[in-house]
Amino acid sequence: MSGQSWFEAGARLAVLTAEPIGRPLDYLAPEGGCFLGAFVEVPLGPRKVMGVVWGAGDGRFDAARLKPVIRVLDVPPMREELREFLIRMADYTMTSLPGVLRLATRTPGLFDAPGARKVYRPGSTLPARMTEARERVLEVMRDHGGAGFYLSELAQMAGVTPQVVKGLATSGVLIEAEVPRDLPYPRLDPTRPGKNLSDDQARGAEALRAGAGRFGTCLLKGVTGSGKTEVYLEAVAECLRQGRQALALLPEIALTTEFLARVEERFGARPGEWHSGATQSERRRLWKMAAEGEVQLVVGARSALFLPFRDLGLIVVDEEHDSSYKQEEGVLYNARDMAVLRASFAGAQVVLASATPSLESWANAEAGKYTRIDLQSRFGASELPEMAAIDMRAERIEAAHWISPTLVGEVLARIRAGEQAMLFLNRRGYAPVTICRACGHQIGCDHCDARMVEHRFQKRLVCHQCGETKPIPEACPSCKVEGKLAPVGPGVERLAEEVAERFPDARVAVLSSDLFGSARALKEAIETIAAGGADIIIGTQIVAKGHNFPLLTLVGVIDADLGLQGSDLRAAERTFQLMRQVAGRAGRAEKPGRALLQTFQPEHPVIRAILGGNEEAFWREEAAQRRAAGVPPYGRMAGIILSGPEVQPLFEIGSALARQTGPLAQIGAQVFGPAPAPIARVRGRHRVRMLVKADKGAPLQKALRQWLRQVKLPAQVRLAVDIDPQSF
Ligand code: ADP
Ligand code: ZN
Repeated sequence: MSGQSWFEAGARLAVLTAEPIGRPLDYLAPEGGCFLGAFVEVPLGPRKVMGVVWGAGDGRFDAARLKPVIRVLDVPPMREELREFLIRMADYTMTSLPGVLRLATRTPGLFDAPGARKVYRPGSTLPARMTEARERVLEVMRDHGGAGFYLSELAQMAGVTPQVVKGLATSGVLIEAEVPRDLPYPRLDPTRPGKNLSDDQARGAEALRAGAGRFGTCLLKGVTGSGKTEVYLEAVAECLRQGRQALALLPEIALTTEFLARVEERFGARPGEWHSGATQSERRRLWKMAAEGEVQLVVGARSALFLPFRDLGLIVVDEEHDSSYKQEEGVLYNARDMAVLRASFAGAQVVLASATPSLESWANAEAGKYTRIDLQSRFGASELPEMAAIDMRAERIEAAHWISPTLVGEVLARIRAGEQAMLFLNRRGYAPVTICRACGHQIGCDHCDARMVEHRFQKRLVCHQCGETKPIPEACPSCKVEGKLAPVGPGVERLAEEVAERFPDARVAVLSSDLFGSARALKEAIETIAAGGADIIIGTQIVAKGHNFPLLTLVGVIDADLGLQGSDLRAAERTFQLMRQVAGRAGRAEKPGRALLQTFQPEHPVIRAILGGNEEAFWREEAAQRRAAGVPPYGRMAGIILSGPEVQPLFEIGSALARQTGPLAQIGAQVFGPAPAPIARVRGRHRVRMLVKADKGAPLQKALRQWLRQVKLPAQVRLAVDIDPQSF
């Protein structure tokens, strides 16, 4: 350790803020001095902003004109480990350091003095007069189990004016309280005995314990239900026994509830929770307790990776292949990769868990960079589902219907046996396309290069790119003929209609993220289904993620070919993962399950691999193809995205860049494009993409920096670099 640096009062400091300024600013250390890494509040023009003491000021500026730090936050300074990680991350992702710092300091209310603000909690009085607005406030309260809210936060979440909240407080329905002191979390007890592990599990747990306490990455692979969670909870136990903190990243909030309950069962108390659904005061508390070492285990979304842990000893990334770990706006990063990076600075162990690992992690294990633990079978007696294709070319099916007679028969058999069937279609809404039968016009979004998707429950057309909605028009916007607009193709809502027609007596549940107003509503729907409250479950991607439905014995995939269209080199991997995950839902308990894939191309190599069950052969084949193409994980890749209000200048800049590839040529990198980006227009901005491909060991970021320095961007054009893009 380099020793903690201390700055005397009045010393010159360089303070890094999260403001888009790009470099640390100089200030004077406050009365009483401060440590390197201290979280401080500093004046910036008329505002007060938060920053971190990043080093000593360099003496360029006249001390008399420097302003002193306003105050130092009463938490331990940011540790060197986190500062180095942020520097390295900014460097790797080619974004600005302030942009990355923002991820680590974005917690609201950190500088609130006790008593400076009020929080609102549910009181015991019932409202005398209900209005729709008041109802919404109480709904938000219920969704968060009585947590305390700031006034502005509550008003915003409920979509009401602050007066509505205050009115509820005046009548005693809500109680106005002091911001609570941030209390430590209840202690987890890692010495409590866990479940009796199977031999496979015990071997895995032993391997993880052997690697505890130092940096190293382990891929924990096992089919859904094989007991991975039990195994990595043993790594958590070991980490806690060593007195260090652990972090578990999950790809989706809806999964945390089940996980929290399991942690409580295992360790006797609940961990800290970090995600967008947590209240501001809860997040502030967790942030502070992480810094003070007073929370032992944090469960959270990808942004939990930036918490100021005092001593981080373990990071678990569950469902590590999940694409939601990739942040696609602002700082573009993959939380799985950044978890490994942070762990390397923190001296922490990493566990990447998945039934269907990313090819990246698979390849790292093959190359010996990661260790690998395999859980071969499902826990207990339950068997993996039997998988088969339904050849749609041989099925007789009416127009505007998508469930083949074979699948109908299978579903009926399950319902008669008192079991559940799931129909999977990865398309939200009613129909993916709305077309005019008079002129052929397709209704698109005014701001994006995307078709509007009809959502019949909401009675609106929705853009899945930007969220814009509009009413379904009577007349075609192009030819003005009325009554000719027709839905084309299926979405889950339309599939629900077909299910109602074919299985009139069945109880049907539709699980699609847009149909639930809150995480609680979704959770309740999932619990109802798990308890047997539905015969047929219709679901989009959210059903692929880890929910446990004990009565489910049949999964029917409506369109297994959906992901295989297009030229993306990751399409095979993604389809394979998704189909395997979805199929893994069937037959979790003692009942054997079956997964049926409706496909028009049963001989397609990916479909055959999914059905064939020889996963390692599939990964080896994929690996060989990627290696031949020189793309990740066997080569390096970066996307350059130019965006602006006009498309022409973007192509001009791109073409200019493509002509002067000197710095890239020097490292043997190739440039492709410019071409329209996979999403060519979003929110009124055009997007043009270039791809740069380099050898595995090449210093790509350095060359990119030199290359991009050659262009001068017009005011309205933005350039973003996407290292390791999701599609290529
Ligand atoms: P995965 O994380 O691989 O999907 P889980 O850890 O969730 O698997 O295990 C699947 C189910 O089996 C869970 O309900 C879990 O409680 C149970 N289970 C796993 N291992 C054991 C064990 N050793 N003893 C008892 N139940 C277990
Ligand atoms: Zn749009």
